[in-house]
Formats: sequence, structure tokens, C-alpha cells
Amino acid sequence: MSEPTIFTRILQGEIPAEIVAETENAFAIRDIAPQAPVHLLVIPKTQEYRNVVELAAGDPALLTEIVGLANSVAAEHADGDFRLVFNTGAGAGQTVFHVHAHVLAGGLNEKSTG
Ligand code: 5GP
Repeated sequence: MSEPTIFTRILQGEIPAEIVAETENAFAIRDIAPQAPVHLLVIPKTQEYRNVVELAAGDPALLTEIVGLANSVAAEHADGDFRLVFNTGAGAGQTVFHVHAHVLAGGLNEKSTG
């Protein structure tokens, strides 16, 4: 079995982080280094999938659950509009290889995708 990722360790309470929302198979935390007024991470409880491509292929229902939880935390923490970003691969800036969605919201009115 692979080493627990930082997100698994947060889920298990080994590393402190406030879990702001949770569903059966996913949870949401605030990003430690926010890149937007509201920056949350929505994460599957399993660390089986390294990125969104693996997740979509392996468990599309779980991907749907992630999108639904992103929508509800964006409604709760911002005005409901949000960007959903899955960095996929180190060359795209992915640093934690336990799939997670960045929910970026609050005062975003630029057209950039970054
Ligand atoms: P990635 O670069 O893999 O797409 O995103 C990983 C994200 O996890 C980064 O935005 C980073 O700030 C966040 N992060 C890394 N370590 C921690 C941590 O210990 N606690 C929290 N809340 N976020 C973290």
C-alpha cells in the first residue's frame, strides 16, 4: 500500500486542517496558500486516483460527487460562481498526487484560466 498522502493525513486528523464540508466519499478544506479570495480543495477520501483523468476513468460517480460538493461549498463560502481547477501532472503545477479540485471563487472577474 502506498504512503498516505498529505490529504489522507489531514482526513485522518494527523495534520491539522478544518474540514469545511463532507459527503460520504469526499471532503473539503481551505487551501493553506489561497490563490483567490475563496480557495477550497475538494478531495476524495480515497487516495486511489492520482489525477482527474484516472478518477474519471475509474469512478465517474465519485467525480460527480466532487463536482457536487464543489458547487455546494462555492454556494456556502461565496456567491455560487466558481472556477474548478484540476492540475494534472507536475508540468501543470500538480504537487499532491491525490486527485483534488481547486474551488476558486469570490471576486473573480478576469477571463484568465489561471
Ligand atoms: P496542486 O498543486 O497539487 O494542484 O495543489 C495542492 C494544493 O494543496 C496547493 O494549493 C497547496 O497550497 C495545498 N496544500 C498543500 N499542503 C497543504 C496542507 O497541509 N494543508 C492545506 N490546507 N492545504 C495544503
